[in-house]
Formats: sequence, structure tokens, C-alpha cells
Amino acid sequence: THFGFENVKEEEKAKRVRKVFDDVASSYDKMNDTMSFGLHRIWKDIFIDRLGPTSGTKLLDVAGGTGDIAFRFLNYVISAKCQDECHVTVLDINPSMLSVGKHRQETSSFDSNVIAFHEGDAESLPYEDNSFNAYTIAFGIRNCTNINEVLNEAYRVLKPGGRFLCLEFSHVDNATLQWFYDQYSFQIIPLMGQLITGQWHAYQYLVESIRRFPNQEEFKNMIENAGFRQVTFENLTAGVVAIHSGFKL
Ligand code: SAM
Repeated sequence: THFGFENVKEEEKAKRVRKVFDDVASSYDKMNDTMSFGLHRIWKDIFIDRLGPTSGTKLLDVAGGTGDIAFRFLNYVISAKCQDECHVTVLDINPSMLSVGKHRQETSSFDSNVIAFHEGDAESLPYEDNSFNAYTIAFGIRNCTNINEVLNEAYRVLKPGGRFLCLEFSHVDNATLQWFYDQYSFQIIPLMGQLITGQWHAYQYLVESIRRFPNQEEFKNMIENAGFRQVTFENLTAGVVAIHSGFKL
């Protein structure tokens, strides 16, 4: 490809992903707002709404980065008055992203006994089998080297009855919107990345990785192949992103 990410060895991809998030960690939250026109907040709110946590939910948020999903989860259970015995573990491979998240927690009203930050790899989770009753991954699985391994690990650490929920960029189902989306992704996003953070390549990588991610149906099949049941997906914003859901039964 013109971005040079095809044919890179697996470990090379992992190294590059690490560097991308090292480079963008401090500006990550601001850039999300700017590039998605704030839409990522709405998508993440819908995502937690679909999860619909209840009291006693032990959530593992993988590739949790700066904690966006985790804090939404905690806010949700508090406003739904079902925070009893709820806990969230944020796992991410990148210490720079995690330290932004930890700082957010320290300056928030959330106590460290309801949220934990762990450094680790989605493809080899540092947890025992059947440990959590919910697993989320938002805008993270696309960055992993081996998606099947991520799904197998998700299945392994979930308790029977546990829910897998993934929010990820997907494939637009409307030709006109696709044209505008292409212009925006290939021309504006890397330029904005350069102007705001000085990181042209990091944002080129973002666009390219979205293009190469399996479409909604293909990803649904991969989730089923990992053993999940009742697998469904829902498109948001005409498929710019999709929420995939499955259960370990
Ligand atoms: N979930 C957060 C959100 O929605 O704002 C962060 C998403 S960010 C686009 C992707 C995250 O995936 C980064 O923090 C990166 O470090 C993490 N990541 C990439 N590969 C990973 C892996 N193999 N295991 C765990 N985290 C990984």
C-alpha cells in the first residue's frame, strides 16, 4: 500500500502500533474529539448503553487506552444506581496510554478499588479462565496483530453467560457517504494529525488499518468461530463504526 503497512512482519506491526500510541498518547483524547467531530463520544455512550451493565458486573476493557470506556461504565452504573460490586479492569499494551488513564482516575471521583489499570497483551491475557462477566474492546482490535487470538482470549477469560462487545470502525454501507468518507480519511485526517500533533504517519496508519479491517459479516463470522453464540452487529453512522456482540454460553 502507499502507507507501507502491507507485508510487515507481525512483530514489526506490533512495534509500529506501540510507537503510534506512544506518539499520540498525550493528545489522544483531544484528537478523537477533533477528528470525529465529537462523534466518538456518542458511539461510546451507545456502546455502554448496549452493554447495559447491572450490579456485580466485572468488566474487562481491553485496549482500554486512556479509560474512555471504563469511566463511561462507572458513570453508567452510578447513574443507574447499580454500582454494587461493579468493577472495571483496563488492560492496554501501552504504558503511555495507561498513564494518561491513571491520571484521569486520580483526578476523578472514582476510587482505585473500582478501577484497575493493567499492562498486558490482548492476545495473551494475564487472567485465569472464566474471570469476567463482560469484555469490551473499543477501537482496539483493529490494532492487534492476530484478531483470532484476541477473540479466543476473550472467550477464555469470560465466565459462561458472559458478554463480548466490540466497538470498531467498519465499512460504510452507502456509496455517497463512502466518497465523502474517503476524501476525509485519506486527505484530511493525516493533515489534521500533522497540524495538531505533528504525527502524519500515525494518522495515516489509522486510516489504513480501518480499510484493512474485515467487514461486518466477516468479523461476525470470526467471533462465531471463536465460540461465541447469538452473535449480532449493529451499524452506527451508516457503518462508519459497528458494535458486535456475542455471548459465551
Ligand atoms: N479503547 C480506547 C478508546 O476507545 O478510546 C483506546 C483505543 S486506541 C485507538 C487503541 C488502543 O489499543 C491503544 O491504547 C493501544 O495501545 C492498544 N493496543 C494495541 N495493541 C494492543 C494489544 N495487542 N493488546 C492490548 N492493547 C493494545
